Amino acid sequence: MIMKNELGLDVIVIGGGPAGSSTATILAQHGLKVRLFEREKGARFHIGESLMPDTYWTLRRMGVIEKIKASAFTKKYSVQFVTDTGKESQPFYFFENNPHECAQTWQVVRSEFDKMLLDNASDLGVDVCYGCRVLDAIFEGTRCVGVKVQNPDGSIEEVRAKVVVDASGQSLVIGNRLKIKETDPLLKKASIWAYFEGASRESGLDEGATLVLQTEGKKGWFWYIPLHNNIVSVGVVSSIEDMFADKLSHEEIFNRELDRCPAAKRRVAAGKRVGGFMSTKDFSYRCSQVAGDGWVLVGDAFGFLDPIYSSGVFLALKSGEMAADAIAEAILKNDLSANQLGAWGPKFVQGMERMKRLVYAFYEGFSFGGFIRQNPEMKRHVIDLLVGDVFKDSVDAVVNPMDLMREEMRAMTTQV
Ligand SMILES: Cc1cc2nc3c(=O)[nH]c(=O)nc-3n(C[C@H](O)[C@H](O)[C@H](O)COP(=O)(O)OP(=O)(O)OC[C@H]3O[C@@H](n4cnc5c(N)ncnc54)[C@H](O)[C@@H]3O)c2cc1C
Repeated sequence: MIMKNELGLDVIVIGGGPAGSSTATILAQHGLKVRLFEREKGARFHIGESLMPDTYWTLRRMGVIEKIKASAFTKKYSVQFVTDTGKESQPFYFFENNPHECAQTWQVVRSEFDKMLLDNASDLGVDVCYGCRVLDAIFEGTRCVGVKVQNPDGSIEEVRAKVVVDASGQSLVIGNRLKIKETDPLLKKASIWAYFEGASRESGLDEGATLVLQTEGKKGWFWYIPLHNNIVSVGVVSSIEDMFADKLSHEEIFNRELDRCPAAKRRVAAGKRVGGFMSTKDFSYRCSQVAGDGWVLVGDAFGFLDPIYSSGVFLALKSGEMAADAIAEAILKNDLSANQLGAWGPKFVQGMERMKRLVYAFYEGFSFGGFIRQNPEMKRHVIDLLVGDVFKDSVDAVVNPMDLMREEMRAMTTQV
């Protein structure tokens, strides 16, 4: 093994998804020397295609927004919910709260989007190393001092830096090593998805809307995400138990769920499937800390809520941005303690918690359309949550009336 003491390397970032790109880019903008290791050799497939509007601000700060505006990605102006009985909510148009251009976002093909972000990081001075798998983080006592990396030629080396950022997504290089991952017992879900060419699309402003369609008895839901090149991403999410109760193939399960969701089935019918079915499960968890001495966790490597509101990429980008500022300050002050490196954690977790309440509400059968009909003055706050504007206290105004409606729903279920 080659030992390398990279004198002068400030930060190592593990993983080149949105969290790794935003952290590395903003650190480079702070003038720091950053190396990012991505295990794949080039652009790679990833699920997570529907963006939230508030990704705009981090993407703009990274200097990549103009490239995305010039891309072919489908423009997304709204989200719409369809109940298990086929009742459609009005679309929640993001621009109703804020007519700024940030109210329009995109449905992206992640291989293209992630590559765009990494190329941009590289242009801004990040040393992006493809085909380099981080095998482990190196600790001296409780302090993380570097990583052990397998290079594309198979050689293994140790690389050291002042701070190591884990942005390895669901691989959780540091979270698993330290055994600090906590799964959410209320969100034990699984998903199966596929891509359809020529499936039905709305026209005009609604063409790029994300549709969330509940299945029979509200046991699960479909996402319906129109991508560019006439492809629609269609996936179903349900409890692991329900999804795999019968020993069926992914295709059989997907079709069984489509039968339970006529509103999705009707839309998919005109399309021809391209490629096979993909699946993942047990994806909701959070690590018990965002940082330790010499290390920081961002994006899915810290935690993932649930796909329902398309918050994953937003939270990945945002945590990367918040962490990068804290790391830059830590290096400036020469204080690489857990407290300094994790100073952004409480605010970030508070925002994530707000989003989590909304996730729980959805799985309890909460109806957005019904809620807005009963509480029209709350629409503004619901849109704030759907946009990703979750780091301000005013969105808490929605919580009490929402809890009230959830209690009414529970009471009705008990009476039945
Ligand atoms: C079913 C489902 C649907 C979803 N839908 C959406 C959606 O519509 N919208 C949305 O915003 N989010 C969605 N998400 C969430 C989204 O996929 C993630 O939150 C997002 O990709 C997190 O970004 P990240 O940068 O943290 O991790 P990732 O995007 O996973 O990036 C991690 C990177 O690290 C690399 N890596 C891993 N291990 C190593 C290693 N040891 N060494 C070097 N490199 C390594 C990987 O190759 C990868 O490139 C969905 C998630 C699921 C499960």
